[in-house]
Amino acid sequence: MTVRVRFAPSPTGFVHIGSLRTALYNYLFAKKHNGRFVLRIEDTDRSRFVEGASENLVRILEWAGISADEGPGYNGTYGPYFQSQRTSIYKEQVEKLINAGAAYYAFDTPQEIEQMRQRQRNQGVHTPKYDYSVRDQMRNSLRLSSSEVEEEIANGTAFVIRLKIPKDRIFRFQDRIRGEVEFSSDEIDDQVLIKSDGFPTYHLANVVDDHLMEITHIIRGEEWLSSVPKHLFIYESFGWDAPEMAHLPLIFNPDGSKMSKRNIQSLDDIPAGKVDPDVESYRRKGYENSALINYIALLGWNPGKGTEQEIFMPDELVTEFSLDRVNKSRAIFDLNKLNWLNKEHLGRQPTEELVKRLEPELTQKKIDYKSDQYLYQVVDLVKSRLAFLQEFIPYSHYFFQDPEHFDEKGIRKRWKSDSAKLVLEFCQEISKLETFDVKSIEEALRRISDHHDVGAGRIIHPVRLAVTGVTVGPGLFELLQILGKETVIRRLKYAAEKLPVYKQQ
Ligand code: GLU
Repeated sequence: MTVRVRFAPSPTGFVHIGSLRTALYNYLFAKKHNGRFVLRIEDTDRSRFVEGASENLVRILEWAGISADEGPGYNGTYGPYFQSQRTSIYKEQVEKLINAGAAYYAFDTPQEIEQMRQRQRNQGVHTPKYDYSVRDQMRNSLRLSSSEVEEEIANGTAFVIRLKIPKDRIFRFQDRIRGEVEFSSDEIDDQVLIKSDGFPTYHLANVVDDHLMEITHIIRGEEWLSSVPKHLFIYESFGWDAPEMAHLPLIFNPDGSKMSKRNIQSLDDIPAGKVDPDVESYRRKGYENSALINYIALLGWNPGKGTEQEIFMPDELVTEFSLDRVNKSRAIFDLNKLNWLNKEHLGRQPTEELVKRLEPELTQKKIDYKSDQYLYQVVDLVKSRLAFLQEFIPYSHYFFQDPEHFDEKGIRKRWKSDSAKLVLEFCQEISKLETFDVKSIEEALRRISDHHDVGAGRIIHPVRLAVTGVTVGPGLFELLQILGKETVIRRLKYAAEKLPVYKQQ
């Protein structure tokens, strides 16, 4: 049996972190089992249609490295993959349910339904339902004769098709994550399958497509768990086997509330205790796609006891992932952990990739990066120190031009009365060097500090300040080597002449 899984979003304009996780787990499960990952767009709710939403969704999935094997814009022989293009299939299929006595036409107007609910409320029913207890009092094909039904349809009376949920049935199934789950049919109403606009509801379309697309495993958020009994009854009525199911625990804000887009404009302005559920915000902010995927993988899954590993590259996730290690308990989104992972991933990216990503911006900002090789060295040195790649230019500007400003606080703290003298002596010492590399630069510096019997810091800090204008950065000797002797000497001399010595406290 070939594993076939699907991600079946209803495009609503933005991709929720929870949806990305569902897509990811399906993708990983498919890859791990040499299966197929299907993308199906569930767009039958025309009132929620958002122009461009599915293109946006595909773009974000691709950014995250989650490519479908089948779906809109991909290959596949099970299409169309937009449910809105499959309405004739649902109509044809629902006929089978009607013929099997599992579904029926209902012509009730909204007023008639409201009156029925009111009658139930008057009898003390808490949550009124259109179900076995009332269906034979309503205007539907169970009560009307077939000629009356034909007449209603011929007259163009609006109708829906409902599922005839049996009374007193227990629907039981084994969820791959939650174990045995059961529902009583008495809790369920006669679900609409085809709406009055002719479009199917989620329930019908989802079951029909999962069957016709030969889906073997359904992996989705726990919010869909309560739909399972309806789906099981639909499968049963069609005479089809239901796929295996796995319902993923929900993801919550740090304060325990549901992740919602309300009151959140950007990642830089988040109300306390909340996080942004919109994947696009993380992409725009500059998160590494592999870090976000790593983080999201851990939201509900762990690699197992005895494994401390938290940093996973995408292909490692494919080998490690298993549904058996998905937790039952809910997950809390922790931005600090994501930020930590981002830094770790950035530091692990191949330097040549980062160079490629940086070059266009450097060119656009007219920053002279000398050569690809020079840029490579700089990126290689600083990448593990950046939280985001876009910090690269502000963090490493001095590699590309002499500093124009010198950190005021740094001068006060580091530039002492003897700094100019020590820096110039260091200058002289390095000018004699034949090879200008980390080792010889460091030795030159030690010679000066030994000679004057001062700690190396008395030279290291002023040199860094003089050469970079700032007090923090990568290893000093590495950065001097990259800058090159000539540049270093020029900058040291300039600083020795220009930097003021403030009164020492
Ligand atoms: N269209 C549903 C959604 O928006 C699909 C749920 C499922 O996977 O069955 O998530």
